Amino acid sequence: MNRRNFIALGSVSLPAGLWPLEGRSLARERASANLHIGRPPGEMPYRQVHLDFHTSELIPDVAADFRADEFLQTLQAAQVNSINLFAKCHHGWAYYDTNVAHRHPHLQIDLLEQQIHALRPAGIAVNYYYSLVWDNRSAHAKPEWRARDRAGNGLQSGYWPWMCMNTPYLDQVVLENSEILERFQVDGAWWDILIQPPDGCFCSWCVEDRKKLDLSDSPKDIYRHNKLVALKTEKALFDLLKSKQPNAIGFFNSRLVVGISDELPFYTHLEIESLPTGGWGYWPFEQRVRYCRTLGKEMVGMTGRFHKSWGDFGGFKPQAALDFECLNFLANCAKACIGDQLHPRGKLDPMTYQRIGAAYRKVVRQEEFVKGLRGVADIGVISTAATDPVMTTQTLSPSDQGFTDMLVELHQQFDVLDLNANLSRYKLVILPDEIRPVPSLVDKVQRYLAMGGSLLVTHKSMLDEGSNAFALEEMGISSTGSSKFKGEYILPQAGYFPSVEQNAYYLYQIGLSITARAGTEILAVYGHPYFDRSPEHWCSHAQTPFAHVTHEPVITRRGKVLYCANPFFRSYALDGELVQKLFMRDLIAMCLAQPARRGGGTAEQGYCRNPVMKQAGSQRGRVDAACNWRELAEGMHFLTVRAFRRQLVGDADCGDAPLENRVFTPDQLEVPGLVSIALVVNQDFSEALEVVRHRLAGLVVDDSGVVEEELKRHLRRFGVFVLQLLAAGSLALS
Ligand SMILES: [Zn+2]
Repeated sequence: MNRRNFIALGSVSLPAGLWPLEGRSLARERASANLHIGRPPGEMPYRQVHLDFHTSELIPDVAADFRADEFLQTLQAAQVNSINLFAKCHHGWAYYDTNVAHRHPHLQIDLLEQQIHALRPAGIAVNYYYSLVWDNRSAHAKPEWRARDRAGNGLQSGYWPWMCMNTPYLDQVVLENSEILERFQVDGAWWDILIQPPDGCFCSWCVEDRKKLDLSDSPKDIYRHNKLVALKTEKALFDLLKSKQPNAIGFFNSRLVVGISDELPFYTHLEIESLPTGGWGYWPFEQRVRYCRTLGKEMVGMTGRFHKSWGDFGGFKPQAALDFECLNFLANCAKACIGDQLHPRGKLDPMTYQRIGAAYRKVVRQEEFVKGLRGVADIGVISTAATDPVMTTQTLSPSDQGFTDMLVELHQQFDVLDLNANLSRYKLVILPDEIRPVPSLVDKVQRYLAMGGSLLVTHKSMLDEGSNAFALEEMGISSTGSSKFKGEYILPQAGYFPSVEQNAYYLYQIGLSITARAGTEILAVYGHPYFDRSPEHWCSHAQTPFAHVTHEPVITRRGKVLYCANPFFRSYALDGELVQKLFMRDLIAMCLAQPARRGGGTAEQGYCRNPVMKQAGSQRGRVDAACNWRELAEGMHFLTVRAFRRQLVGDADCGDAPLENRVFTPDQLEVPGLVSIALVVNQDFSEALEVVRHRLAGLVVDDSGVVEEELKRHLRRFGVFVLQLLAAGSLALS
């Protein structure tokens, strides 16, 4: 049997007698098996832990201190009702007795068996974790199976070498997973790191494969080939899972990008890994959850208990941040999962589980209110990744970040869409900045407009760059290329933008020059500078001043089709100019006469999340069951101040019933009971500190030097930092 037909079978039949361990474990396990533990049919547990256990062979006495009863009691006390436990880690070691995998050389007990036997009978669901592409042991034992770049070098992320799933490594993986599923009754499988190199794998199998499939090494063909390898791996493992344990759930991590639809048959549900301090920031979750909720699967949001990211031993996230993240998952229709790492000796850290317990007790109290929630959305936004695919889950284009930021801050209810989306569900569809005019989308948008939908297009969306023509006649404009000056200004026409004061506003990004056909209204026009800044022509520190107003359109309207010639969404992510958000607010208002319920607050206010949900079967119907994170947060006044590279965009926003609808100026920040402040900064430390000084002028901290030093240290290194000032003890409000 060669590898291909081996995989094509979808499951692996092994010779009788290969499972000497079955007699003593699986039979007993099956006897006490309670399928759907912690999970009523169709509903996943709300309070999960992902227990990392990547443990080097250099560490002795692995699991020597593991005590099953203590392990169970710690998790129970923390209200955990589902956990991901390690079968195989990134180091490549197995944590159970095995005939086909490679047991950790210093593992003292059959850890996975003891964990499963302790937890499942007590009602805690167990999914086994298995690392796919990252496997350090296999990389050394079988270097020929490694993923390779064009130059033939083995690929690596940090210290982790990449294996290629298109080599016989996949056979080994299937064999090991088959053994796990024969030995252990589980609730699910959690496969990690299913990625092929975005620039292509050049191992001998992949090179040969692409030749056979008539695929070149172009980015497009590399993307297609990587997709095929991922699908082959998913099918092999998911079919295996379902053949062995039909009720188990299955999920592949590291693949959840916009455009995942074709892989969904191999996923029972979707998990959004997004550790705000671990390189993601707070915003990717907001974008991804609004995409995933359109795909019809249950969702889990995953954060970590770490101060920074995975493997941060001795680094702890503040309680308020953990609470906020878990409750924000619930408010967005997702279950909560908190990542932790078990100490090599096998003992859970008590303080970590006190904090997880405190967060999960809040979750317990909200579960009945969020059951069966689904998102309510007026607006559908096509992600830039729909026509320009990305391969890595942490990548968010500036345009996607910009519309996510802007619409969340404007308290608008929106879904993020790929090319399969049903546009008729939305009152307004937005095509942000760079949505290519692929024929299927053009056709879909035209049918949507014919049905009476509203459309907002910005910058190069729907522009065929070859012919420099817009693919949608309905826009009523023509492109004449790039804007005349690099440093243009925008001026609103009187009567269209009530939120925007009459002025000439600088456009930080370069837009298009357009002409409006007869019957197309011009809502805002370009203002030209004296000249473009250059070594020969320049004035003052930055852009050239505004010289005169023109009749050249920047924003137009034809019927229900709005167009903006500047990349406002990308610019909002990069430049953070408040007025862009105000222009957008007024454009959206032109399309949405009756928006879904929105939370209090104004567009000038900073970060405020008000996802609106509907509860299935609710007698109250419509949006009465609306649930937003502020209501969930139970008195946790969470204030987010957000800084951009150049400028602070928002003012503060405090979520508390008596405080709703109030805009706080910096000197009004002395809010009684203020518990925590989250500060998310893009990069520049000096500007960020200035912002903090400015914003927190009214706050007196016991030891401000400590806070400042901490800020410096963290901002220099990470650019994303959560600062917590605890009202009890360390913070006094003057
Ligand atoms: Zn390869």
